Amino acid sequence: MIDVVTCEICGRLYNNPSGFFRVCPTCYENDENEFQKIKDYLNVHPCAKIFDVVADLNISIKQIKRYLRESRLEILEKDNHFLLCESCGKSIRTGRYCDECYKNRHKNIRAVYSGSSNIKHSNAIRFRTDGNSKRASSI
Ligand SMILES: [Zn+2]
Ligand SMILES: [Zn+2]
Repeated sequence: MIDVVTCEICGRLYNNPSGFFRVCPTCYENDENEFQKIKDYLNVHPCAKIFDVVADLNISIKQIKRYLRESRLEILEKDNHFLLCESCGKSIRTGRYCDECYKNRHKNIRAVYSGSSNIKHSNAIRFRTDGNSKRASSI
């Protein structure tokens, strides 16, 4: 049986034998390249702000947000008003939920996750927000 899914980036249908990534192979490759660009940029400018990265690398806020949701990027400020918990709406630095909501959602399946809990956040690269959160929250 072939599992056909819609790519979250370009909207094309493609075969997804692994069932893990929701982007097609073409977009995945572009995505990796762009992520690498951000990484290189933050190596050179360790205190770069999100909007600097967006402007200098011509990357969309939406894309940055996706990297943040995937815990590949992290915001330095705790109270950033840029990335919000999907459950309670509190500012978070990375991922989808604040610690509290994360714990609540995962307490029943903790055993499944305990093996990989050390990996969380370890590879995230960091950002500052510039306080211009109006533009970001409207997206
Ligand atoms: Zn695609
Ligand atoms: Zn929350």
